[in-house]
Amino acid sequence: MSFDVVIVGGGLAGLSLACALRDTRLKIALVENHPPVAAAGWDARVYAISPANADFLQKIGIWKHLDAGRIAPIYAMKIHGDAEAQLDFSAYQTGVSELGWILESSLMACALWESVKQQSNLCLFCPAAPQAVEIQGDAAVLTLTDGRTLSTKLLVGADGRDSWVRAAAGLQAINTPYGEMGVVANFACERPHRGIARQWFRDDGVLAWLPLASSDSTHRFSMVWSTPDAHAAELLTLSGENLCERVAAAGSHELGELRLITPASAFPLRMTRVPRITAPRLALVGDAAHGIHPLSGHGINLGYRDAQSLSDLLAAAVEWQDIGSETLLRRYQRARREEIALMQYTTHTLRQLFHEKLPGLKFLRNTGMNVTNALPVIKNLLVRYALGAF
Ligand SMILES: Cc1cc2nc3c(=O)[nH]c(=O)nc-3n(C[C@H](O)[C@H](O)[C@H](O)COP(=O)(O)OP(=O)(O)OC[C@H]3O[C@@H](n4cnc5c(N)ncnc54)[C@H](O)[C@@H]3O)c2cc1C
Repeated sequence: MSFDVVIVGGGLAGLSLACALRDTRLKIALVENHPPVAAAGWDARVYAISPANADFLQKIGIWKHLDAGRIAPIYAMKIHGDAEAQLDFSAYQTGVSELGWILESSLMACALWESVKQQSNLCLFCPAAPQAVEIQGDAAVLTLTDGRTLSTKLLVGADGRDSWVRAAAGLQAINTPYGEMGVVANFACERPHRGIARQWFRDDGVLAWLPLASSDSTHRFSMVWSTPDAHAAELLTLSGENLCERVAAAGSHELGELRLITPASAFPLRMTRVPRITAPRLALVGDAAHGIHPLSGHGINLGYRDAQSLSDLLAAAVEWQDIGSETLLRRYQRARREEIALMQYTTHTLRQLFHEKLPGLKFLRNTGMNVTNALPVIKNLLVRYALGAF
C-alpha cells in the first residue's frame, strides 16, 4: 500500500497531526497499538493547554467536540518559592481572558480518535505495530508485524518517549533521568479554586494544583507532585485519607479539606534531548522528539506545536513537491529547534535551581522570584511566552 504520510503513534501528537492534514490532498496512514480509552471518572493525566494550542485544536475542528463541562479555564497562576517568595500571573493583568485551559488527556485523545476514524484521506491500522523500516531513495517502506508493508514519502514518528521510529532511524536520544516521579491524583476540595493554578517549589519537589471544571457545586483540582522516587513511592502507599492530609498540608490548606476522587498514580520523569528530529524521509513529533520536566506543564503543548508546524509545511507544499525531501524536513527541524531547546533549557534550569541545596541559593532564588513579581514588564513577557503569543 502506498501513502504520502505514514504516522506511527496515535497519541495526542500523532492524532492532531493526522487531523490537521484532513483537508489536504495527502493520503495518510496511522499505525497505532491500541485506541484511547475514556477515563471512567476524572482522568488523572491532565494538561494545561496554552491559548495558542487551543486555537490549533479549534482550527482542526476538535475543540467543539470536547465536553465543555470538563474544560477548566485558568484565570491566574500563583507560584510559591521555598522561602515565602511568591510570583503571581493573572489573565486580567496580561490583558487576555484566560491564561490557558486544563483538559484531561483521554478527553482530547478520544475526540481526536473519533475524528480521524471518519477522515476520508486516512487509513487506520489499529491494532498494529511496525517491525522494520527501509529508507529507499524516493520512499520509506514500513513493514508491520502482521507482514503488511506501507510505502510512504514521509514517515512520522509520533510514538512517544521510547520511540521505535527514532531508534530504527538511528536518531540519537540523550536521556537525563531526574530520579523523580510525577505523582498525579484528583481531589475534590472544600473551597473554590477560582480558576487559579497553584504551584509550590518545595524541598521535596514541585507540587502543582491545577483547577478542574466544577459542576454540581463540587470543586475539584488535579495534582502533579514531581518528587524524588522514594517520596513518590511513599505517597503511593498512603491511604486516600492520609494522602489528602499530606497534600492539603503541602499546599498550606489553601483549598480547605480534600477528598480523593481519582487514585494516585505516577510516571517517571526524565529530560530527553533529540539533537536531530529529522532523518531522510522521516520526522519526529511529540515525546518522540523531546521530553521535559512537567513543572512548566508544556509537554503536550510542544507536541501540538510540532504537529502544527509540520502540518503547515506539508499543507503548503505544492503538488509537484516531494514532501519527504530534505528541503522540507530541514525547514521543519529549523522551525522547531529553537522553541524546543528554549523550553527544555528553561524548565531544566528552573528545576535545578530549586533542586540545589547550596548555601545562599535559597535566598537568591526566592529574591529573584520576588523581584520578578515586582516587575510587570518581565512578568508580562514571561506569561506571553507561556501563552504561545510569540
Ligand atoms: C504514564 C504517563 C503518565 C503521564 N502523565 C502526565 C501528566 O499527568 N501530566 C503531564 O503533563 N504529562 C504526563 N505525561 C507525559 C505526557 O503524557 C506526554 O507528554 C504526552 O502524552 C506526549 O504525547 P505523544 O502523543 O507525543 O506521545 P504518547 O502519548 O506517548 O503517544 C504515543 C502513542 O504511540 C503509540 N505507540 C508507541 N509505540 C508504538 C509502536 N511501536 N507501534 C504502534 N503504536 C505505538 C502508543 O500506543 C501511543 O498511543 C505522562 C506520561 C506517561 C508515560
